[in-house]
Amino acid sequence: MQKKDLLYEGKAKKLYKTEDENLLIAEFKDDLTAFNAEKKGSESGKGALNCLISTELFALLESNGIKTHLVETLDDNNQLVKKVDIINIEVVVRNVATGSLTKRLGIKDGTVLPFTLVEFYLKDDDLNDPIINDEHCIILNLVDDRSKLEVLRQKGRAINDILKEFFAKRRLNLVDFKVEFGIDKDGEILLSDEISPDSCRFWDMDTNEKMDKDRFRQNIGDGNVKVAYEEVLKRIKEVK
Ligand code: 5GP
Repeated sequence: MQKKDLLYEGKAKKLYKTEDENLLIAEFKDDLTAFNAEKKGSESGKGALNCLISTELFALLESNGIKTHLVETLDDNNQLVKKVDIINIEVVVRNVATGSLTKRLGIKDGTVLPFTLVEFYLKDDDLNDPIINDEHCIILNLVDDRSKLEVLRQKGRAINDILKEFFAKRRLNLVDFKVEFGIDKDGEILLSDEISPDSCRFWDMDTNEKMDKDRFRQNIGDGNVKVAYEEVLKRIKEVK
């Protein structure tokens, strides 16, 4: 399958049309951004690592009954994916308080939450991705039916259950992550976008070292992420 016109360029990926109107090619870029692109960087090979990590995790989730947009990974940086209408809600799932949750509510960083917390954020850079509730989702027409919000929450929790256990076996604590969903031509809600260290927080269970984009956000190890992402990929692959 060949790339045709560029359909969309985001902060971390480009989406191309293909000869099949229902399929797109997602190209993972080496660019890194944080704080709504106020901080920008790039690291050669980062896109390929995220593409490979996301491929592994989407395959794991598919095999556990979570439907995704991924059709096939074409090469190191490119995935063939089903075309979906993206739901403009960032679904954030949290096991441990850190990041914006600690800032917003004053919960001590590292506090293990008493249950898995699912939050919705509006996917809108101009507004700085504000947190929203169910009523905001309806007012903004982000979904046509309130029941879809419960489906998103259930899917978020199901993904968390699978990934948390998977990473615990690899001595990585899945602290939190962000996922996006889209609706395909048959009206099915599919996990879309990516799941990678750009969109998750992983803390090493033995050393507490951060193995994710917080290294870039917080300038840990000079802000370089590749070595940590390589380690995440190695651990994903080493235990079967
Ligand atoms: P926080 O709300 O604490 O900044 O982020 C919670 C989790 O969602 C983190 O794992 C973070 O990486 C992810 N996340 C939140 N917003 C975005 C976003 O706009 N892009 C990406 N890639 N991840 C995000």
